[in-house]
Amino acid sequence: MSKRDYYEVLGVSKDASKDEIKKAYRKLSKKYHPDINKDEKAPEQFKEVKEAYENLSDDQKRAHYDQFGHTDPNQGFGGGDFGGGFGGFEDIFSSIFGGGGRRRDPNAPRQGADLQYTMTLTFEEAVFGKETDIEIPREEECDTCLGSGAKPGTKPKTCSHCNGSGQLNVEQNTPFGRIVNRRVCNYCNGTGKSIEHKCGTCGGTGKVKKRKKIHVKIPAGIDDGQQLRVSGQGEPGINGGPQGDLYVVFRVRSHEFFERDGDDIYCEMPLTFAQAALGDEIEVPTLHGKVKLKVPAGTQTGTKFRLRGKGVPNVRGYGQGDQHIQIRVITPTKLSEKQKQLLREFSEISGNEMPDEQHDSFFAKVKRAFKGE
Ligand SMILES: [Zn+2]
Ligand SMILES: [Zn+2]
Repeated sequence: MSKRDYYEVLGVSKDASKDEIKKAYRKLSKKYHPDINKDEKAPEQFKEVKEAYENLSDDQKRAHYDQFGHTDPNQGFGGGDFGGGFGGFEDIFSSIFGGGGRRRDPNAPRQGADLQYTMTLTFEEAVFGKETDIEIPREEECDTCLGSGAKPGTKPKTCSHCNGSGQLNVEQNTPFGRIVNRRVCNYCNGTGKSIEHKCGTCGGTGKVKKRKKIHVKIPAGIDDGQQLRVSGQGEPGINGGPQGDLYVVFRVRSHEFFERDGDDIYCEMPLTFAQAALGDEIEVPTLHGKVKLKVPAGTQTGTKFRLRGKGVPNVRGYGQGDQHIQIRVITPTKLSEKQKQLLREFSEISGNEMPDEQHDSFFAKVKRAFKGE
C-alpha cells in the first residue's frame, strides 16, 4: 500500500505552521477517533492522521520528511514506539463493550477527561441568555515540551523495565505455588515511557495546570439543572487522543415575583375588592416589560389570565412560552371609619346576596356539603 503524503493526510500546505498542523490534527483525530466514528475504515484513518501528526509536529522529523519523504528507513519512530497502534484501538473497543481483562495499552490514544463547571444565573439571565467568559482550572499540554514531558531536543524512551507496556509481572512464591501478579510499572508509573531529561516546565508530566478563559454563549431559555456541552474544552487527550469536553451546569436563582415552569411564567396579581367588583385595567409586569390587562367586573380570586408569548423563549428555538396570571382579591384590613360606614351601607343594600350564577352554584355546593348530600 502506498503511503499518502503527510501534508495531504492532514489537509495542510507544505509551509503550514505548527499551530495549523495541530489544529488540523485535533479536528481529524476527533473525526476519525474510533470512540466516535464507527466506520470500519476509521481506525486506519485515525492511525494515518496520528502518524502524519507525529512526523509533522516534530521539527526534526518534519525536516527529515520534507527531505526524504516516506522512503527513509531510519524513520521508524511513528509506528514502533507507539506499541503497534492497533492494539490501542482494541483496548478502546473492549472498554466500550465491556470486554474486560485485556491488557490496557498505556500508549493507546485516549480522550482527555471531561470537566464540569457549575454556573449560577439570575432568573433573567436564564430567560434571555448571555455571553460570558469563565475561567476554569484545567490541565493543558505543556508548551515547552508539547506534551512529551521530555526536555526540548530530547525524546522519551520506551521504559526498559516494562518494555513500554506500563505493567510488570511480579512472581511470588506462596504455599500454593508460584503466582504471577501484574502491577503498574513503578519506573514509568504505567506510562510505558521513561524520560531521561525531564522538561523543566512540567517536570516530565507533559501537562501544566492553567486557568483557561473560555467564552461561553448561554442560550436564551436555559433552565435550572440543564447543561451545555462545550466540545473540546476539557482536559487534553492522552497519547494524541482527542480533548475532553467541558460541561457547564446551570443553577438558576428564583425570582421574588415570577415563577417558571418550562417555557411558561406564572405570577399572582393582587386586586382590590373594588377593582375586582367594578372591573379595571391593570398593569402587569412581565419579563418583556409592562403589559396592560383588562380585568372584567366581577373578577374572582383565582381567575386566570394568559398573556401569549410573554413567557420564556424556548431554549431549542421552538417559539416562546406564555405568562399566566392568577388574580388574588385582597380583603381590606385597615379601614377608616368612613370606609367602614360605606361598606356597612353596601352590605345593607345588597343584603349579603350573591346574585351571580357562579356564586349561586358555589353556595349551593356549600349548603349540600353541610347537609351531607
Ligand atoms: Zn513540559
Ligand atoms: Zn515501565
